Amino acid sequence: MQLKLKLRNLAIAAATVVAMPAMAQQNPASDSLTIRKIYDNALTSYESYENLRYLTKNIGARLSGSPQAAAAVDWTKKVMEGMGLDRVYVQEVMVPHWVRGEKEVGRIEGKRKHEVAIAALGSSIGTGKKGLKAEVVEVHSLEELKTKDVKGKIVFFNRPFDNKHIQTGAAYGGAVDQRGAGPVAAAKQGAVGVIVRSMTNDYQNVAHTGNTKYQDGVAKIPAAAISTNGAEFLSKMLKEDAKLKFFMRMNCETLPDALSYNVIGEIKGTEKPDEIIVVGGHLDSWDLGEGAHDDGTGCMQSIEVLRLFKAMGIKPKRTIRAVMYMNEENGLRGGLKYAELAKKNNENHIAAIESDAGGFTPRGFGIDGNDSQYAKALTWKNLLAPYGLHDLTRGGGGADIGPLKGQGTVALIGFRPDSQRYFDYHHTIIDTFEQVNRREMQLGAASMASLVYLISEYGL
Ligand SMILES: [Zn+2]
Repeated sequence: MQLKLKLRNLAIAAATVVAMPAMAQQNPASDSLTIRKIYDNALTSYESYENLRYLTKNIGARLSGSPQAAAAVDWTKKVMEGMGLDRVYVQEVMVPHWVRGEKEVGRIEGKRKHEVAIAALGSSIGTGKKGLKAEVVEVHSLEELKTKDVKGKIVFFNRPFDNKHIQTGAAYGGAVDQRGAGPVAAAKQGAVGVIVRSMTNDYQNVAHTGNTKYQDGVAKIPAAAISTNGAEFLSKMLKEDAKLKFFMRMNCETLPDALSYNVIGEIKGTEKPDEIIVVGGHLDSWDLGEGAHDDGTGCMQSIEVLRLFKAMGIKPKRTIRAVMYMNEENGLRGGLKYAELAKKNNENHIAAIESDAGGFTPRGFGIDGNDSQYAKALTWKNLLAPYGLHDLTRGGGGADIGPLKGQGTVALIGFRPDSQRYFDYHHTIIDTFEQVNRREMQLGAASMASLVYLISEYGL
């Protein structure tokens, strides 16, 4: 009897929409139709894109502790309050408050002087008004640094992205230790400053900022990113004149921690309200551009997931939350706070999805979960593949949802858009609204909504 039913279900599924392995509790035929409707709605709606326009153009860059970050908190809360959700609330969180100050000056001073684009790394100290001038030692790794005498000098980390990687995130991962750990390593050897080649695949004239970390007991030295074209030029000049000097001036500083907030909107589940599915992005951004791809799109897509559920009258069986985390870029305090409170309140998160890789064409999801969670996600492959979601790979997640790991059996899921252009814009003045394509962004929101829908129906 059961087998007959299964075969019949399978036949219906195959005939009407897609072939799926028979699973008694799943209904691929109706799920396929629901997902189609999610995409229909997303692709014909301009609301989320207009929300992104407001966030990027009217509020702008939103570095933690800034008035713009505070405005973004108020505005996203108001947006979600206007959506008829079951609950909209904030979580207090103290965040670092670093300010860049005046635009930095970077100059190669050899036989001639050449201005180059630099940007102070987040958390860096300034140079003082007079600036800092010293000879330069070029290295390509933290290991190579150990072999050099850099006392009184500026260390220039110049290892480029490995462009042979297909996923640019892997190239970023292979280079970013220079930015994160370079200044401390250089200071330990007596260097007075650091410049780091910008984290991008491309040759550009813009500098890519990003956070660095100091270490207690190690001297803090000024650290800046230099554009890739600037880095190439400096490297060439050093080969001609090893004694040339680099001048850098920046008056960034760290102010006392500021009060800020995570912003959360929620639709309560009808059958299992205690099982929570989170979808989110980070509301803060670097201060240089408009925080469009990083991570305005992730935030607006997460709100869009809730809008799609409301607009289509889908009542999820499990609770869905859109979370705008604060302070991903230079502290992760929002993500840590969210996980801390989830634990304290004994909340049961079954899945956490993060969109923080840009608003580009969706490719799939990276899933960090146990064997059965991954196997279950794979049963949805045929439902997602028609929408270009072919990559359901094992392993993934994201910075903001990372702190939830280990709480119950929560699966951490990273939304994976195409990665080729992300590091053209990442952490720069050119990460602006104009770089976001509405269709690509909406496909991303629909991808997340579809996965959230399936998890809300069947658990994970
Ligand atoms: Zn980000």
